[in-house]
Amino acid sequence: MHCYNHQTKEAIGLCRHCFKGLCQECCQKNEDFLVCSENCAQKVSEIEEMNERAKNIYGIGKYASKRHFPLSVVLYLCMGVLFISLGVSDLILYHVSLSNYDIFFISFGVLCLLFSLLAWRRTSKIGIIL
Ligand SMILES: [Zn+2]
Ligand SMILES: [Zn+2]
Repeated sequence: MHCYNHQTKEAIGLCRHCFKGLCQECCQKNEDFLVCSENCAQKVSEIEEMNERAKNIYGIGKYASKRHFPLSVVLYLCMGVLFISLGVSDLILYHVSLSNYDIFFISFGVLCLLFSLLAWRRTSKIGIIL
């Protein structure tokens, strides 16, 4: 394979981004890979950064140990417990029978618990930690 810019010279490697053959003269050494231009170096570092963020989100490699319970699930769970206990304590303390407030609080709490379950099922299916 010959250099993309110098047809007579033998290529020593490929640009990491555009995969053009590069000779010694044409390649810019960039950390541990070859690139043909600043533009390609920029593109490569963008892709590397994207990969790194994706690994963090999906809990891959060094981020595997960082895996935790998704925040949305915890949030909905807390809201559910809070509203149900508000409704129930209001019912116990001030009312003998169910008032509209109690019904609202308890049903909203149940809804939150349902959202929590849905969020948990969804995140565990996709594998995203958010
Ligand atoms: Zn290139
Ligand atoms: Zn060249």
